Amino acid sequence: MKPSAISIQNLKKSYGETTALKGIDIEINDGEFFGLLGPNGAGKTTTINILTGLVRKDSGSTDIFGHDTISNYRFTRSQIGISAQEFAQDWFFPIEKLLYFQAGYYGISKAKAKSKVDELFERLGLEKKRQSRLRQLSGGMKRRFQIAKALVHDPKILILDEPTAGVDVKLRHELWQYFRELHQTGKTILLTTHYIEEAEMLCDQVAIIDNGEVITKGTPKNLTGKQGDSGITINLSDTEVDLKNHLKEFSYSLDDERIHFVSSDPEADLPKIINKITKAGCHIQRVETTKSSLEDVFLKLTGKGINE
Ligand code: ATP
Repeated sequence: MKPSAISIQNLKKSYGETTALKGIDIEINDGEFFGLLGPNGAGKTTTINILTGLVRKDSGSTDIFGHDTISNYRFTRSQIGISAQEFAQDWFFPIEKLLYFQAGYYGISKAKAKSKVDELFERLGLEKKRQSRLRQLSGGMKRRFQIAKALVHDPKILILDEPTAGVDVKLRHELWQYFRELHQTGKTILLTTHYIEEAEMLCDQVAIIDNGEVITKGTPKNLTGKQGDSGITINLSDTEVDLKNHLKEFSYSLDDERIHFVSSDPEADLPKIINKITKAGCHIQRVETTKSSLEDVFLKLTGKGINE
């Protein structure tokens, strides 16, 4: 069987009195877009820093493509590119030079790195800024440079730690598009975010983490379906017709002239339900759908909002 791209088992970490990770388990398949979603201080950056060797774990295991990140650190680090949350850079060199330095850390010569460097400057809209120093870039440009730096050695795994923190809406959407493209080329992506929409829009799988623990995981659709309150409410103009036989396959409750259907996927179920009701000869007056978000799931499981 193919090993997971990232395998984290029973990972624990404390900083003095503060327990950052209480034993988390996460498996990320090769080629998956995985979201680690949680509020500030949940333990997301600590997890990433352990994977990349910046923080020492207390116990548990972290493997990249089946190789332990400590005993096989050279191999495992070569597989990962990380766009960190904080800008820790040399502020005085032109950013083009910084990208070549970064490639050099992975043993890639300037001549070999050139086409990748050109491609990244072009794709991330930094072409005109190649000779600028980092301190001369805007916040959004710094964020884009950070992503270019993570990709210059063409890693199989891309780790994005809050990649759209502090960027405007337009750039956020452009970056989402770029991340989707990278995912389509087969990269495994681990994204940490506290933007619910970001995780919902991009990720195949999501783990919601709070207080150093994974509280639930699954596809965004399954999570909102299983633990959210998605559904469809239909107001009928007559209740004389016996609908029971027609609606056998659905889970619903009838309250006077209103029927409420529990549905994990209201968009898919709505046409089927309308079809059954009209076939039964009933007239529909009003239709309302409610779709839960991962925010609702988080609220239900923890009793607080993710960005509180
Ligand atoms: P954010 O979204 O704010 O970055 P996070 O989910 O990434 O949060 P971490 O940065 O991993 O969370 O922090 C988890 C916990 O560990 C927090 O309580 C934090 O204060 C603590 N912590 C993190 N790094 C250190 C450190 N170097 N020394 C002491 N405590 C730390």
